[in-house]
Amino acid sequence: MSGLDVLISGGSMGGLFTGISLARSGHSPTIYERSAGALKSRGGGIVAQQNIRRFLSDHDIVDPDEITTRSHERRFLTEGGGVERAVSETMVFTSWDALYRQLRNAFPDEQYRTGTTVTGVTPETATATTDDGTERSADVVVAAEGGQSATRAQLHPDVEPEFASYVAWRGVVDEATLPAVCVEAFDEMFTFYQGADQLILAYFIPGPDGETEPGSRRLNWVWYDTLDGRDRGAIFTDTSDTEQRFSVSPGQLREPVRHRQRDRAAKLPPVFETLVSETPDLFVQAIYDLTVPSMVTGRVCLLGDGAFVARPHTAAGTAKAAGDATALAEALASHGSINEALAAWDQARTEYGTTLVARGKQMGDVRLNLD
Ligand SMILES: Cc1cc2nc3c(=O)[nH]c(=O)nc-3n(C[C@H](O)[C@H](O)[C@H](O)COP(=O)(O)OP(=O)(O)OC[C@H]3O[C@@H](n4cnc5c(N)ncnc54)[C@H](O)[C@@H]3O)c2cc1C
Repeated sequence: MSGLDVLISGGSMGGLFTGISLARSGHSPTIYERSAGALKSRGGGIVAQQNIRRFLSDHDIVDPDEITTRSHERRFLTEGGGVERAVSETMVFTSWDALYRQLRNAFPDEQYRTGTTVTGVTPETATATTDDGTERSADVVVAAEGGQSATRAQLHPDVEPEFASYVAWRGVVDEATLPAVCVEAFDEMFTFYQGADQLILAYFIPGPDGETEPGSRRLNWVWYDTLDGRDRGAIFTDTSDTEQRFSVSPGQLREPVRHRQRDRAAKLPPVFETLVSETPDLFVQAIYDLTVPSMVTGRVCLLGDGAFVARPHTAAGTAKAAGDATALAEALASHGSINEALAAWDQARTEYGTTLVARGKQMGDVRLNLD
């Protein structure tokens, strides 16, 4: 099959991977993205798994080496800062903003409609309604709307994200602003500290404009921490006094919350304590699990975080979105009808997502001592 008309709701990673794969397979995808302008990074790093790098090179988007950094050792520190264990291993990292920029540039502007929200779908006819009241029918609708997908809520009203009882504090710092001793401690390393009920890790990612040379990169850290009796509502109430359900963005944490977390950093190895205290803008996200029973309803597909959210320990959220997209293009190319292709895709990707979420739960509960 080729020449299918595909409407994609959501123009972040999942929507762009899908749009690019389908366009390169001879289909006509249109992306609707509710945000008005370019998406702004939450400032984080991502593990550039092999399938992401392959996607970039196979589609002639960019040489992955141009937007990635590498570590050559996984290193575990003691509370005092010594090296407890070191394992030789190469890992490849990028930043959300560097990857998004490359994918967005590879997808035509005229097929990417910003400031447009999909408000409802009719699965039988592959129809999407947008917030200006327009209805458009296509061959297939793909909802790549992230963890809070409204299309998923319409199709699976009983499916709710389940809070995992801990949060991830995160931050990104320009290496140029860090003390040399701190840069040296983390350089070329994927560094961890595992405490009794917390885990912090750090790795280098490209700079704000994708720079990968030493001196211009950023250091990215993620600190998983239990609430330890603290009120989740208070942590997630931002500077505008709104209680957020899943995350408080950089710059929007209230001062007392920020201070309290910085104080908790005193129990970390000294290089991590320095890293946290030198970070201008901490932010926080709730860790949760999400599983749908099926990714396809009629002619509507749920893709990426809209279908499954696995805990970040799996380092697989963006890679899964790329895998879903690539597999969808392959299924449409290798089956005689749309319905057969969607059924095969649904079976394979639902099984993958379900297994990944289960693996993430197990990894997180062991690491945070929640068993
Ligand atoms: C702005 C932004 C910044 C991010 N920064 C990071 C980061 O720094 N590090 C990291 O690890 N992960 C980050 N993520 C999350 C990461 O992209 C995802 O976990 C993963 O890549 C899966 O992507 P996704 O496309 O399935 O979901 P998401 O990335 O969550 O994208 C969903 C998209 O759908 C749009 N959308 C939702 N509902 C509708 C609707 N009804 N109609 C139209 N559009 C809709 C949203 O505006 C969003 O752009 C970020 C996500 C976003 C949106």
